[in-house]
Amino acid sequence: MKSQQKFSPAFSFELFPPQTPQGIEKLRLTRKELAQFNPKFFSVTFGAGGSTRERTLETVLEIQTEGYNVAPHLSCIGSTRQNIRAILDKYVQVGIQHIIALRGDLPSGMAQTGEFRYASELVTFIRQEFGTVFHIDVAAYPEYHPQARSAQFDFENFKRKVEAGANSAITQYFYNADAYFHFIELCESAGLNIPVVPGIMPINKFSQLVRFSDACGAEIPRWIRKKLEGYNDDISSIQAFGLDIVTDLCEKLLKAGAPGLHFYTLNSAHLTSIIWQRLEIHSNLK
Ligand code: FAD
Repeated sequence: MKSQQKFSPAFSFELFPPQTPQGIEKLRLTRKELAQFNPKFFSVTFGAGGSTRERTLETVLEIQTEGYNVAPHLSCIGSTRQNIRAILDKYVQVGIQHIIALRGDLPSGMAQTGEFRYASELVTFIRQEFGTVFHIDVAAYPEYHPQARSAQFDFENFKRKVEAGANSAITQYFYNADAYFHFIELCESAGLNIPVVPGIMPINKFSQLVRFSDACGAEIPRWIRKKLEGYNDDISSIQAFGLDIVTDLCEKLLKAGAPGLHFYTLNSAHLTSIIWQRLEIHSNLK
């Protein structure tokens, strides 16, 4: 894999919009702790069909007021062009310049009523309506999207998003670095020269990780799954083992030239901070 590091690696932290006053307070503390690592940006997720629309906007505005760069996620499934335009107009008005453009997943049972089918259509729409106002990130799947009919077809669809105007990509999380390296090689041979930043999921609770991984198609390698299973409810052993695994993964990725890391923090600074501190110690990263 050719190094993707044209500049020093960029780090970002993903948050979700909290639902309760306690959640809002906790997230403020989380941000305060993570901000000391000087991330390139915080991102804030967006529920498909607009289900978190107001809360995403409120969280984005609060982070912006604190003086940090923030990139809202925007998922298009179940939405109309008018809805999406209104959200983007608001972002332009408040000076947001970076969007993570996604399809999203409708909750089961909800009918597909919107005007967008795929994230590539959202990227095309943003470019048509807003030109180059926004830096657009899209999702990438080194282990392939669970609904894709083949690996090749999924990569073709990733290519469509880049050709529609995406500037960079963030991957689904993975624990197998080779899948990422292979994906980057595919990008290189297809002439896709955008940075593809690995998404990193710290390991917190085994049952939660299994649930997420089953839903999003990320593989937990057998040896990792077996070790985690063996710890039963011993959370501190799970986290200690998880920290070793994920820190090693991050080191391997950065050493091979990954252009940064995007942490799925789940609104908690604890594990991400430890991984970060270990990376600084081991690799002198700033
Ligand atoms: P797409 O790129 O549209 O791909 C979805 C599927 O459709 C793939 O199988 C692809 O191969 C296929 N496909 C694409 N184009 C075509 C075509 N033209 N014809 C046929 N098939 C096609 N979800 C949220 O709801 N909110 C979030 O905030 C959120 N943030 C995320 C952040 C990151 C970094 C990642 C990796 C995922 C995030 N997700 C989020 C999850 C994401 O929405 C889901 O994985 C969703 O199932 C796919 O979204 P996508 O943008 O990758 O879709």
